[in-house]
Amino acid sequence: MDVVVLLGAPGSGKGTVAARIVQQLGLTPIASGDMLREAVARKTAAGTEAARYMSCGELVPDALIGRMISDLIGAGPDDGRYLLDGFPRTVPQMGILDAILADCGGVLKAAVVIEVADAVVTARLAGRQVCPACKAVYHVETLPPKRAGVCDACAAALVQRADDFPATIAQRLAVYHRQTAGVIDAYAARGMLKRVDGVGGVDTVVERMIRALK
Ligand code: AMP
Repeated sequence: MDVVVLLGAPGSGKGTVAARIVQQLGLTPIASGDMLREAVARKTAAGTEAARYMSCGELVPDALIGRMISDLIGAGPDDGRYLLDGFPRTVPQMGILDAILADCGGVLKAAVVIEVADAVVTARLAGRQVCPACKAVYHVETLPPKRAGVCDACAAALVQRADDFPATIAQRLAVYHRQTAGVIDAYAARGMLKRVDGVGGVDTVVERMIRALK
């Protein structure tokens, strides 16, 4: 099994870029935020606990997210190739991932961080709309759906994520800088970190990412 870790602030384009590179590189995506939102929607015990932190932009406890990721990877094939989007987000979560990999003889291939300034991600997130049914992502200005408020792919009504409201965005960015900077520094110290400029069109950023992972 091998793993690529994708890092970047909320709104850095991680999800959009991940959706494209998993197809091109044959990776299975695991997006911790999507996994948690699904657990919240299904009202599982983990989802109910996670919702308390997510609704105010805080990270859920390391042990909780670690268990969920471990269960998911553990249930997958031994030769799985994963793109982890949004995990690990703290230094203790890096340790959890190391333990998961050690357990199953897996290898961390690289950690890639998509770099975008806070002002840019704030504007992106404030205009983001998502499809609750098929998870497609739009932006009111830069990537609008053909019909305002309606998903191009499945015609469901688009929504704004509760954690994309302005006060929560500021909180999520503060949390990102406080918690995830340590992860970036630690992967850099291990010589595993690749930095990708996240400003530009999706095609350009995807190209930079593929080049970084070669
Ligand atoms: P995201 O969609 O990646 O921005 O994640 C949405 C929310 O889910 C975050 O604001 C956190 O509350 C929670 N979350 C996602 N991934 C993690 C993680 N690795 N550790 C803790 N909380 C997480």
